[in-house]
Amino acid sequence: MSDTTGLARLAAGTDQSMLKLLGQVRAMSSSRDREQMTLRLVTAMRDVLGAREVKLYAVSASPHGPVGAVVAVAAPDREQVANEDEEHPPVPLHDDPFLDSAIRSSDGVAEIRSESAYRLALAMGDTGNPHALLVADCDIAPEPRVRDAFLHVAHFYQNQLDLLDYAELDTLTKLLNRKTFDENFDRFIASVGRALQTDSDRRNQDDLATRPSWMGVIDIDRFKRINDNFGHLFGDEVLLRVAEVMRSSFRQRDKLFRFGGEEFVVLLRNVSEPDARAIFERFRTAVESHEFPQVGQVTASAGFTQIDPTQPPAEMLGHADEALYFSKQNGRNQVNSYEDLVARGLLEGPKPAAGANTELQADIDALFD
Ligand code: GH3
Ligand code: MG
Ligand code: MG
Repeated sequence: MSDTTGLARLAAGTDQSMLKLLGQVRAMSSSRDREQMTLRLVTAMRDVLGAREVKLYAVSASPHGPVGAVVAVAAPDREQVANEDEEHPPVPLHDDPFLDSAIRSSDGVAEIRSESAYRLALAMGDTGNPHALLVADCDIAPEPRVRDAFLHVAHFYQNQLDLLDYAELDTLTKLLNRKTFDENFDRFIASVGRALQTDSDRRNQDDLATRPSWMGVIDIDRFKRINDNFGHLFGDEVLLRVAEVMRSSFRQRDKLFRFGGEEFVVLLRNVSEPDARAIFERFRTAVESHEFPQVGQVTASAGFTQIDPTQPPAEMLGHADEALYFSKQNGRNQVNSYEDLVARGLLEGPKPAAGANTELQADIDALFD
């Protein structure tokens, strides 16, 4: 009799787990926010497997093999995306035979069980070269069908992310596309605000006021000449390389867009004005010193402005664009801030100055009307 009761309890527990899992699937399917979807995934894994801890690593290549940086964590009392301001040194993954076996296995799955512990890892992406690794530490092994159901959900998450990529990314550079900027600007600004709230534990309000967010417009210098002299294929290669330099110059949670031909927009979160300038300068010098195949040296100019969530995006873009136009007029291969130029009397301030890039401005106005 007790066996039957035990089985019934087990079945009821499994049903509950499945229901929880379906709830997370439903929530994931209605979200277009990657961070929210990732939180759903680690939360689902924790709840369904009864895990003590779940970690999602973003995996990247290094000279010593793949390394993982924690991007989300779920523990019994919390689930959160990693705060980039807290340094999480990347972990070498080949050093851990268990994680290494997940990376190398054809289905990406590795498991270890003992009497008092169970560990499950799932590598997502190409075998041997995954882009993410999900690891759960549990006290007891889950029912095999619960585990299998969870693995299906992890694949569902992957497919959802692929669909999002298809809709939101520029096909050439894989940066966010302009449509995404136009349709999600409010959400991006909100996520910038979210970061401010999380940080408020550690810093007082005065300090926060000195770490606002920034919008930058970047434009490759004399790009037409590159196309004319080397052809469009080499032009495209330059765009790809510049996008790579952007990825390495800015942080993971900054938002990088290809805005049009050879124009890019960056949303930079929570840094002081001197730091924002230094970050754009770092990007500018990285482009300047990059050796572009065949083409040789390429430079880029930028203009940036402080993000004020109460201002229309078109106005902020207009300001960043005025600072960019100033960079172009004053020799190119330089970075300028709108506020600094206004303070120094070099730009007129609030109203767009006559002679600014009126073509881009008209484009932007039309979009945000
Ligand atoms: P400036 O320093 O003033 O920015 O000069 P520029 O030559 O970069 O500026 P301009 O706007 O005159 O030229 C941009 C060129 O970018 C024109 C267009 O042919 C080229 N372009 C736009 N989209 C693409 C693309 O996807 N691939 C390639 N190869 N070229 C593109
Ligand atoms: Mg241009
Ligand atoms: Mg240009």
